[in-house]
Amino acid sequence: MTIQLHDTLQGKKVPFEPLKEGEVTMYLCGPTVYNYAHIGNARPAVVFDLLARVLRRHYKLTFARNITDVDDKINAASIETGKPIDEITARYIKAYNDDMGALGVQPPDIEPRATQHIDVMIRMIEKLVDEGFAYEADGHVLFDVDSYDRYGELSKRNLREMIAGSRVEVAPYKKAAHDFVLWKPSTPELPGWDSPWGRGRPGWHIECSAMAEQHLGDTIDIHAGGQDLVFPHHENECAQSACAHDGAPFARYWLHNGFLSIDETKMSKSLGNVLLVHDLVETIPGEVIRLALLGAHYRQPLDWSAETIESARKMLDRLYGAIRGIDVPDEVRAAAKVPEALVAALEDDLNTPKALAEFFALARRLNKASDPAEIESLAAQMYAAGELMGLLSGDPEDWFAGHVEGQLSADEIEAFIEQRNAAKVARDFEKADAIRDRLAEGGVTIQDGREGTTWRRSG
Ligand code: AMP
Ligand code: ZN
Repeated sequence: MTIQLHDTLQGKKVPFEPLKEGEVTMYLCGPTVYNYAHIGNARPAVVFDLLARVLRRHYKLTFARNITDVDDKINAASIETGKPIDEITARYIKAYNDDMGALGVQPPDIEPRATQHIDVMIRMIEKLVDEGFAYEADGHVLFDVDSYDRYGELSKRNLREMIAGSRVEVAPYKKAAHDFVLWKPSTPELPGWDSPWGRGRPGWHIECSAMAEQHLGDTIDIHAGGQDLVFPHHENECAQSACAHDGAPFARYWLHNGFLSIDETKMSKSLGNVLLVHDLVETIPGEVIRLALLGAHYRQPLDWSAETIESARKMLDRLYGAIRGIDVPDEVRAAAKVPEALVAALEDDLNTPKALAEFFALARRLNKASDPAEIESLAAQMYAAGELMGLLSGDPEDWFAGHVEGQLSADEIEAFIEQRNAAKVARDFEKADAIRDRLAEGGVTIQDGREGTTWRRSG
């Protein structure tokens, strides 16, 4: 077995070999916690969760996924809502973990928070300044891009072309337009920490370099994130880490997932087509969302539409349908192996379309089998494959009953409707409206008619 991974730096698929035999370190750039994660943000969380599961079969993996809890977008959200920063970050960290949990994403081994690593960042910046890779100017510390001749290697950008093409105004304190901020001053109302350069806060890129160093060492095996992070975020992380570590490479393999679009349109606030995982899981089982995200190869673009969800739902119908009604004794289940072809597909740069095809081939074999021992064994392999991919974690009967974890049950909906009717009789319209809103939040639309109140699940 050799796992093959596509490395952005080398621009090709290469055999994976960790720095230390038998051990792997992996870092994934995590969320900036100022709002709910959208379905695009869920893509790296889900695909690299799958990679973590694949790696754990062979290696002792240490997987860190950070939380960016100091950022100008968070400050802006605090000013806009009037809520303290801590309240905002605590709320969205919890929401992120709940939402990713609903998609079967296992918690990473380490979830470092930027605000708890300010001292590590300051130390790293000091070293960069001392060694001539960074300079202080006007309360800021900037990375001197010209001091690092490998800058641009990861994103395949040529600095001179970039400068020629850029028309942005350059801050007066910068030596060169492409120099980026490691530290910046904070005004009294903004979050800040004492530093050799005065009270201030870190730039975004240094956060990841510092957290990776603290928890995983100078050179990590795998660094992952979405494609949009290649430049400037990862290029900058790469430069500052290598310079702070006497030229040691920051990551041995750089993995980037492709982008997710909605109905073939870029997801954006201004278009109003941002789908939040928090809302989707109200009406769509997390497993369906997970499978839909794994349906395309992680490096390919993925378009999200009603059909994507429907097709994932049907796939799960087939998988659950195959194991439905089959009792698999614990010992058979414990001894079952994931079919080799499925594992081989995943170990080939996480080829999920091929792995799913193998999963269906297994389901077809199970559907055709008549020997009871063979049925048990194939069903056990289905469960093993499901465990590896983070699928088939529910009871098949629940699946076909349409039960969704966290979703309001029919009985709960009926009880709400009864309470609402009672409120209306008592002319407590405020309460009646509040109940309607609660149902709507749970993805249930109600309609009053002559026959009484009917309900349906929306979405
Ligand atoms: P952000 O909070 O914007 O830094 O994004 C968190 C993660 O989601 C990063 O790894 C991004 O690359 C990734 N990401 C953001 N938007 C999308 C998208 N539409 N499709 C796939 N990945 C995305
Ligand atoms: Zn990062």
